[in-house]
Amino acid sequence: MKCPFCDGRKIKVVDKRDLENSTRRRRECIKCNKRFTTYEKIETFNLSIQKKDQRRENFNKEKLRTGLIKACEKRPIPIEKIDQITDKIEAQLLQLKKNEIPSTIIGEKVMKELKKLDNVAYIRFASVYRDFKDTNDFKKYIKELR
Ligand SMILES: [Zn+2]
Repeated sequence: MKCPFCDGRKIKVVDKRDLENSTRRRRECIKCNKRFTTYEKIETFNLSIQKKDQRRENFNKEKLRTGLIKACEKRPIPIEKIDQITDKIEAQLLQLKKNEIPSTIIGEKVMKELKKLDNVAYIRFASVYRDFKDTNDFKKYIKELR
């Protein structure tokens, strides 16, 4: 850090205060004795999900995991695998570096993972996600799997 007045590099902290979301430091340049203030803020990533009905909610990893567990119920899928997929999808979402993501993107990612993992879990998730109306919808998906 450089002194904003003289570009001096030796600066001491004369006062430190923790605020709600940041830390305020009163600093003094050893060279010119002038004082200035800095704020240190924790960078948090807030991902919000835009739902089909236009409502927004914060991304909830636990909710994603629960959805996967539900789809994989009574299937021979270890919980570690579900955790792995949850982590993978979360990482992919963060990589998009967007503050807001449509819920459909998450749904598609889950479908893609489940399709590779287990046909039954895939169909189960798709039936909820795609809002299947009747057995024809199921047939269509099962046909697609073959
Ligand atoms: Zn200075």
